Amino acid sequence: MSDKKVRVRFAPSPTGGLHLGGVRTALFNYLFAKKNNGDFILRIEDTDQTRFVEGAEQYIVDCLKWCGLEADESPVKPGQYAPYRQSERKSLYRQYAEQLVMQGHAYYAFDTAEELDKNRKEIPNFQYGQVYRDSLRNSLSLPQHEVDALLDAHTPHVIRIKIPADETVGFDDMIRGRVTFDTNQVDDKVLLKADGMPTYHLAVVVDDYLMKISHAFRGEEWLPSAPVHLLLWKYLGWKDAMPKWAHLPLILKPDGHGKLSKRDGARLGFPVFALDWQGDPGYNGMGFLPEAFVNMLATLGWNDGSGQELFTLNDLVEKFSIERINKSGAKFDFEKAKWF
Ligand code: GLU
Repeated sequence: MSDKKVRVRFAPSPTGGLHLGGVRTALFNYLFAKKNNGDFILRIEDTDQTRFVEGAEQYIVDCLKWCGLEADESPVKPGQYAPYRQSERKSLYRQYAEQLVMQGHAYYAFDTAEELDKNRKEIPNFQYGQVYRDSLRNSLSLPQHEVDALLDAHTPHVIRIKIPADETVGFDDMIRGRVTFDTNQVDDKVLLKADGMPTYHLAVVVDDYLMKISHAFRGEEWLPSAPVHLLLWKYLGWKDAMPKWAHLPLILKPDGHGKLSKRDGARLGFPVFALDWQGDPGYNGMGFLPEAFVNMLATLGWNDGSGQELFTLNDLVEKFSIERINKSGAKFDFEKAKWF
């Protein structure tokens, strides 16, 4: 490992209760940090106001505390605690989006929701790169003076990344090895929304850079976003500081077919939320002790190779290794979960 200080983050969006997979992501980040004398940071990714759920942030903080996974750092005064919140860092992001426009890696797009909808229906492969750009009014097809006039008139707009055609981008995942993407399959994602908020793509890269994150464990559902992030790291000139990523395999239904859902929880009588969302934050509906719950989660897709099944949090910190994380999804074993 490089001599860079280990700093990891758990970066949930406050959209409701934490799914088991989310707590496991937090746990693996935490174990990796503590094993390497590093810092564990909690960052609330609340830039999507339409998905914001009142009370979810407190729930996440309580849930992590109940599991014993407390963050090492806070943007508020020593002795007090609050997580980092992207909504409070809003002013940071625009400058990077504008820098990308100046460098030709992003562009103002003035298309309306109606135009987008119409084109999505009518134009094959509309969302991908050049097809999208050629089909809409945006700064790539408009002369500069028209772009300036639209901006001066405060015309609603977003900033989109300009994904290059015909390139292969890739990275070495700590679990999966080399992963590559064809940029022709990636659309020109929005970076800055009309309300001035960054999207997840811009905010996650800017914050991982500014917070000097060295390693990031996240769910494999984020893999399709990786090419956008890789290009942003490159275009912003920060490639050498990019964290090492580990995309964690899903937690699967007991029969192995598909992702464990909230509905499976209801069917099995097992809450797939870590803690009861509506009720007492110290109670998860099955009467688990936090130690047992953490033990159960750690062994969903990880083992230490010795056959040992019972671990304290300290044991887990000592024994955790990325090499022993399974490469395929972990079937949720309801019968086994019950004996913890
Ligand atoms: N905000 C994302 C989430 O809700 C974070 C993904 C990441 O870790 O990059 O899971």
